[in-house]
Amino acid sequence: MCGIVAYIGHREAYPVILKGLKRLEYRGYDSSGVALLNEGLKVYKRKGKVAELEESLIGKDVHSASGIGHTRWATHGEPSDRNAHPHISANGRLAMIHNGIIENYNQLKHELINKGYKFTSDTDTEVLLKFIEDIQVNNKVGLEEAVRIALKRVVGAYVIVLIDQDNPDTLIAARKGSPLVIGIGKGEHFLASDASPIIEYTKEVVYVNDYELAIIKPEELVLKNLGNEKITPFIQKLDLELAKIEKGGFDHFMLKEIFEQPQTIFDCLRGRMDAREGYIRMAGVDKNIEQLKNAGRFIIIACGTSWHAALIAEYIIEELCRIPVEVEYASEFRYRNPIVNKGDVIFAVSQSGETADTLVAIERAKENGAFVFGIVNVVGSSIARISHAGAYTHAGPEIGVASTKAFTAQLAILTMIALKIAKEKGTIDQKRFMHLLSELHEIPDKVKTLLESNDSIKKLATKYKDANNALYLGRGYNFPVALEGALKLKEISYIHAEGYPAAEMKHGPIALVDENLPVVIVATKDSYHEKIVSNIQEIKARKGKVIAVITSGDKVITGLADDVIEVPEADELVAPMLSTIPLQLLAYHVGVAKGSDVDKPRNLAKSVTVE
Ligand code: GLU
Repeated sequence: MCGIVAYIGHREAYPVILKGLKRLEYRGYDSSGVALLNEGLKVYKRKGKVAELEESLIGKDVHSASGIGHTRWATHGEPSDRNAHPHISANGRLAMIHNGIIENYNQLKHELINKGYKFTSDTDTEVLLKFIEDIQVNNKVGLEEAVRIALKRVVGAYVIVLIDQDNPDTLIAARKGSPLVIGIGKGEHFLASDASPIIEYTKEVVYVNDYELAIIKPEELVLKNLGNEKITPFIQKLDLELAKIEKGGFDHFMLKEIFEQPQTIFDCLRGRMDAREGYIRMAGVDKNIEQLKNAGRFIIIACGTSWHAALIAEYIIEELCRIPVEVEYASEFRYRNPIVNKGDVIFAVSQSGETADTLVAIERAKENGAFVFGIVNVVGSSIARISHAGAYTHAGPEIGVASTKAFTAQLAILTMIALKIAKEKGTIDQKRFMHLLSELHEIPDKVKTLLESNDSIKKLATKYKDANNALYLGRGYNFPVALEGALKLKEISYIHAEGYPAAEMKHGPIALVDENLPVVIVATKDSYHEKIVSNIQEIKARKGKVIAVITSGDKVITGLADDVIEVPEADELVAPMLSTIPLQLLAYHVGVAKGSDVDKPRNLAKSVTVE
């Protein structure tokens, strides 16, 4: 993970880098640092968030026209001042930032130690830097050539950016497996892990591809492959507004993003379906409809919250399309020996489009001849680029580390895809098709209504915030919603929470139930309703505290549960887009009540670009 920013040009580099690091902090925030070039290299770094680095630099000489900056999510070596990036070469003339993991760092480190190199950090990054330095010195080559030679021996994933005291007008960057965007200005260039630090200066960007090396001067950008051949940079125009990545009056990005959901779901549906005319049009699906409707099987690959969206999609697709679906954790899929047949279609679901495990899982599936359909939020991201076809969720930048609006947008997309395939395949009749389209169409307004419960959910959060554990239960389409609710609570409030299929609780978790255990039950009206009412009775019989998410006006459960949160009535197939949202709010308010930093929960980072 980690966020990287670099600048070279006519402005003061430090303020550009600092602002950029703050925007990228969602990617990692255990330490940060900058290297600035002004009559020699000045490197400042510090454990903790970017604000602490900023504080420590007040009054220091930060004047510079080029520099690199990093906000870290530690993989090798604890978060500390000395492990923070940038790292410095043994001769003190080079500084480097890195996002990723150098898997063969140990072997390289031993070789370097035998040559007399000393290490001041525990990171894999310092090893790569000194390896580059060693090549530069021994082979008597320039930095660019040394980087090229070094990267040929490196196993792992990286974006690196180097700054060289002896060549103050040049930055060198390279990428494999982690994201890098270069913003092109007039007489200046900006580098970053995503476009958010760049958009206020320029809308013209180049997404660097794997195995590419960039040589960046204020006036010039040269891209090369590792064979030293020039590549013409593909310049794209960014379609992103600055306002969309700022907090807009909310206390936290997470809350802002929860409240954006009426709009983001609307944006996701807009132009793709029409409930009155009765059609769904999605370019990526339409063009490949034969492949999709004749698929022998769908495999959905995802991680974390996206994996929960995939589980709900499994139920929806099997119900509507009658095509078998398997849902796989990308990290498992990539390392086992999965059976992928020709004719299988892989859906890869990822908010960032940069999830390292999902990227490799896609490569594996492609090697086996599968057709890959990407569902990502970040436009131009790696998964979007390596998939055969795809659809963007159009939820806008998601900054809060705990995913919210991206999840409901993924559900909206996956439901539309299922409906479209079912229609083309003839596994859904016109009446149900029209009904589900209008149900989808009504979701944004229903989300607006249910967000009015925010204050009462906040009160509930105060009531339950001191719990040590929580159980989340649901059946059918709402079972993955229970998993997602439990995950949100863990991420944001650090309360241990387990999600379970409601009927399965009798096979174990019911042993946890006593008068201290809050049990959150997702019990909106669906075909399983009576069954879940019985499950609530079973928990009440053991004195558990039941918080039920119910369909408005459900008197039966209101009479049984300790607390209820009402959501508008909806078809069970689209109901998860509603029932999830109170659980996002509950986790958010518990987190705030407990004083945790909900936008940057401990040990986490947003896009998981390391495996
Ligand atoms: N491996 C590097 C470190 O631990 C970079 C980590 C990352 O990209 O998350 O410092």
